[in-house]
Amino acid sequence: MRKIFDALIVGGGINGSSIAFQLAKRGCKVAVLDKGKIAGKASGAAAGILGAQTELTEDGPLFQLACKSRSMYQSLIPELEDLTQVHIGYQNKGVYKVAANKEEELVLKRLIESQQKADEQAEWFTIDDLIKREPFVSNKLRGAMYIPNDGQVQAYELSLAFAKASITLGAEIYEYTHVSDFILKEKKVYGVRTGLGELLADSVIVASGAWSREILERTGLSLPIIPVKGECFSVKIEKPLVQGTIFSHGCYIVPKQSGRLVVGATVKINSFDEKVTFGGISLLIEKAQNLVPEIAHAEWEGAWTGIRPQSADGLPFLGQHPACEGLYIAAGHFRNGILLAPATGELMADILEGKTEQPNPFELSRLECLVHSS
Ligand code: FAD
Repeated sequence: MRKIFDALIVGGGINGSSIAFQLAKRGCKVAVLDKGKIAGKASGAAAGILGAQTELTEDGPLFQLACKSRSMYQSLIPELEDLTQVHIGYQNKGVYKVAANKEEELVLKRLIESQQKADEQAEWFTIDDLIKREPFVSNKLRGAMYIPNDGQVQAYELSLAFAKASITLGAEIYEYTHVSDFILKEKKVYGVRTGLGELLADSVIVASGAWSREILERTGLSLPIIPVKGECFSVKIEKPLVQGTIFSHGCYIVPKQSGRLVVGATVKINSFDEKVTFGGISLLIEKAQNLVPEIAHAEWEGAWTGIRPQSADGLPFLGQHPACEGLYIAAGHFRNGILLAPATGELMADILEGKTEQPNPFELSRLECLVHSS
């Protein structure tokens, strides 16, 4: 097969599909290539928290991008659901970031102050206030930072919706299509080599999550991204135990619409291992019971893993390859790739169209300092 596109995207996780959606909307002839299934890796494993204020504790470019991306969900969800009929399960009931002791309480109170200064909503709930709203939460906790605007989605369904919407707008998706190399001549990209043959394009975007480093080695670039394994499990419940997401150090409980609770997530740095371990899941079970003791009576559903792509400085790479014309990178979203997907799609489409006016803090020009400092 030898086909010609405007843009080829290597990786059908949420970021690849979000970029495809934005490019297809702008009339670009685009294809997504994935070595496995759409959303078969981190994007299908994620708990789906849109935790701009929960996860990011410092104001700066990433916090700004995260808040922007979170706000994009308001119009994006109905648009994607109308186009695809996929139910994304978007919920906007907030996150309770709980404190287990006095020190954690002080840290959270300081965070509330700084987020309020950045014009974001957050407030402190004493344990009594918290239990009034969430009666099944343990009374051994001290209280919680309540973040009303951090919602959640079903991550797999959202990724699928991006992919299906792209197809509706003319994009092509090739699953089980491993990209083994780029077609490069004189530092310019002309396409990719796959098991299906060569595919040609003016632009190629690497959105291969934790595997981005591996494929980019072909261009001589050692992208500083490491794999961070995470394990999760889910249970089924007969009556709702929590309305909002309960988030603590090392464990969160996310209530899904279909009577499920998703509990995550372990953290194992530098690991591509995709096995679910007894040790990892038992630790999560213990932590979840400390947060919501009634969860002990829930019915077991299943457990899974995913590999998060962590960049060396914590910011995703969103921009042009430093040495190859026409080659772009959108990778390194670590714990927040679901949250950041709408803004990633928009920013990458703008970059490809040459529309970015302001300096882009996520571009790869920062790589030189990263490589030299590591
Ligand atoms: P991926 O989803 O990993 O997709 C990359 C794709 O590239 C894969 O499908 C892979 O098959 C493909 N690929 C790789 N190499 C090639 C190649 N050579 N040729 C073709 N295809 C290739 N984020 C949040 O915002 N909220 C959460 O609550 C949350 N919870 C998480 C919980 C867990 C347990 C984990 C693991 C992650 C969580 N995350 C969360 C993080 C989020 O899942 C990731 O940041 C995001 O999914 C990354 O998306 P991606 O598209 O960049 O990568």
